[in-house]
Amino acid sequence: MILDTVTLRIAFAAMALILAVLFYFSTYRSTRSPYSAWWCAALLLFLLGAAAFLMNGTPQQVWANPLGNVLLISGAACVWAGARSLRPLKPSPWLSVALPVLAGVAAAVDNPGSNAWAGGEVFLGSMAVLIGLASHELWRLEPGYSRVRIPMAIAAGGVAAFYFCRLIVFLINGQDGAVFVTFFGSAVTTMVTMVLLVVVSFSMAGLSTEQQTRALRTVATQDGLTGLLNRGAFLEAAAEELERSKAANGGGSLILADLDHFKAVNDTFGHAAGDLALQAFAEACSASVRSTDLAGRYGGEEFILLLPGAGPKSAEIIAGEISRRMAGQHIPELLRMPTVSYGISIYNAETADLDEVIAAADVALYEAKSQGRNRTVRG
Ligand code: GH3
Ligand code: MG
Ligand code: MG
Repeated sequence: MILDTVTLRIAFAAMALILAVLFYFSTYRSTRSPYSAWWCAALLLFLLGAAAFLMNGTPQQVWANPLGNVLLISGAACVWAGARSLRPLKPSPWLSVALPVLAGVAAAVDNPGSNAWAGGEVFLGSMAVLIGLASHELWRLEPGYSRVRIPMAIAAGGVAAFYFCRLIVFLINGQDGAVFVTFFGSAVTTMVTMVLLVVVSFSMAGLSTEQQTRALRTVATQDGLTGLLNRGAFLEAAAEELERSKAANGGGSLILADLDHFKAVNDTFGHAAGDLALQAFAEACSASVRSTDLAGRYGGEEFILLLPGAGPKSAEIIAGEISRRMAGQHIPELLRMPTVSYGISIYNAETADLDEVIAAADVALYEAKSQGRNRTVRG
């Protein structure tokens, strides 16, 4: 049986169009999830790429072929961007732009008018790399993500491996070689890609809804200005952590931090400059704590940190580290960075509740302020 490439490409294009419309109206419009948006873009690019390749064998091939390469690789870049958005990471523009451009140029200089496989090596290599990267991102999704990520990662990994094999056979066997044409030619590839699309449509609703839920949860728990936990989210998480520590007979430290003479910073340099100082302090906090610590904005220019397992000495070192990082930042709008006062308290199995720990840190902070600021006091 000989698979007819033109028929398959038309079937593929119809499938991509229907899926793009479905993903857009049923998933993207209701979730606004970047994953579904990237897939809509990918499908449209695949559709246009397949349409461009339909002009093979006509006089239009000279421009349609390089363009088809560019469109399909751009589609693969969108698949990668969609997978990254789940983690959530920003798209990586350099590779996503460089590979399609490179493939377009490689095809354009390789007699695209007569050679239907102009720039084939670059095309196959780029597809393998980008879809392989998408699969890698899906594998690295945290296990908390819905299980549909697994068939999606496998399907993308399979397509990437297929493209990699195509590249190798293309290099060894040549574009007209029997092995390449029979097992790795355009007809088989179109079918393999269709399988990927079936798995995508299976995973689309689950992954998009989950991405939306996670985005909403982030908005609800984050402080808008600094990106740290907001007061409510911090108190909830810290109370849970405290209970866990007490149950395990463990302990830790809590730090309350307050920027010194912050009102004067606002009055002198303006509120916007004050905001930059708050963001700089939040960055200094995030850079100084471990991933198991909690950092939040307690209110205004006051911040709060919970350091499970850290004694008062370690807490003092971390406070010093934060101040050092803060002082090292340079903000042109500010003549110099504000200093910070810290109050430290500890908790252990005998501690009654979080309120008690915070109250003790607050007393210590007050003491730090009255001793002249820019210092750390243990409660
Ligand atoms: P102290 O050293 O005693 O802490 O003095 P202070 O001036 O830092 O303390 P005070 O409580 O008098 O002033 C806090 C200032 O923080 C007043 C308020 O306008 C400012 N502030 C609170 N939230 C924000 C914010 O989101 N952005 C900016 N720019 N300023 C804020
Ligand atoms: Mg202050
Ligand atoms: Mg204050």
